[in-house]
Amino acid sequence: MREFSCRCGQVVYFENNSCGNCGRQLAFDPVALTMVAEETAGSGLSFCMNRSSASECNWLADTSFGDSPCLSCQTNRTIPNLSRQKSRNRWRKLDSAKRRMLADVLGLGLPVDPTRLRFDFKEDKRINPDAIEEFVSTGHLSGVITINAAEADPVFRESMRKHMNEAYRTLLGHLRHESGHYFFNIVVGQSLIDEARLLFGDERQDYAAALQRHYRTGASAAWQGNFISHYASSHPMEDWAECWGHYLHVRAVLDVASAKGFISDVGPENWLSKFVEFSVSLNEVTRSLGLPDAYPFIQTDPVTAKIKFVHKAIQQYQSSQSPHNKTPQEFVTER
Ligand SMILES: [Zn+2]
Ligand SMILES: [Zn+2]
Ligand SMILES: [Zn+2]
Repeated sequence: MREFSCRCGQVVYFENNSCGNCGRQLAFDPVALTMVAEETAGSGLSFCMNRSSASECNWLADTSFGDSPCLSCQTNRTIPNLSRQKSRNRWRKLDSAKRRMLADVLGLGLPVDPTRLRFDFKEDKRINPDAIEEFVSTGHLSGVITINAAEADPVFRESMRKHMNEAYRTLLGHLRHESGHYFFNIVVGQSLIDEARLLFGDERQDYAAALQRHYRTGASAAWQGNFISHYASSHPMEDWAECWGHYLHVRAVLDVASAKGFISDVGPENWLSKFVEFSVSLNEVTRSLGLPDAYPFIQTDPVTAKIKFVHKAIQQYQSSQSPHNKTPQEFVTER
């Protein structure tokens, strides 16, 4: 995510729908991948129809004709029942995290086709007695990413984090991880599948049995040398999705840190080590405020190789999509 600013010069966040300095209406343009500000009050940007809904979507609509949903809102298949304030708050947080993840993948030139990639944000009876399902679990199946809407509640999420013995649990982390399941076939394809299996293992092994084993016996003590998280050790596809999610974390942090001038000279050879170096500084900053580590992970050599493979697979996809432009998108080194 790069740095955005309003016409008046004020730096604005990706989530802003108006400028705190001059009051102009703002929107994110998912084609140009930038924030746009109206020229003068009411100058007619075509906002997404959900701008005034509970999700407070701040993207531009997909067409300039009338009320229409933006690209992100077209991917919504199920949203929480909006009759309750709590549910409306959940949708706002879920959708905001989803828009950030979609902006990540659009920025990498990856396809977001709302007929293939869809989202179910579902509540279950644990948080809403009126919900239909007893138990919703977060996951991906055939292009549908399901997120248990309770994950938007900080108390629920923190108790799950402790229960699952995780170092990090956020809505954005869930969405980045799940998007990895969706994009695996798109970026790895036949040409890189052998290399993927060498690094992650054979993704065809029985998924249900592997997950059952993981939840019954836990990760082996040796997971820390080879995996970014204990969950990554449960199945090759989970290892891939974890590394994909971390790759998106790395890219997002490098983009913003470069744009803000915190790091420089990020290039094809040093991007991951630049990130690791910066993440330690970031942790020092949050520790100095009495907060937990911003990036509580250790990237060992095997993990580094896997995250670099995610980069390679995305680069190969980028080159295959732009035959006249053989240079895949590289890193931002200056503003
Ligand atoms: Zn402004
Ligand atoms: Zn929208
Ligand atoms: Zn997964």
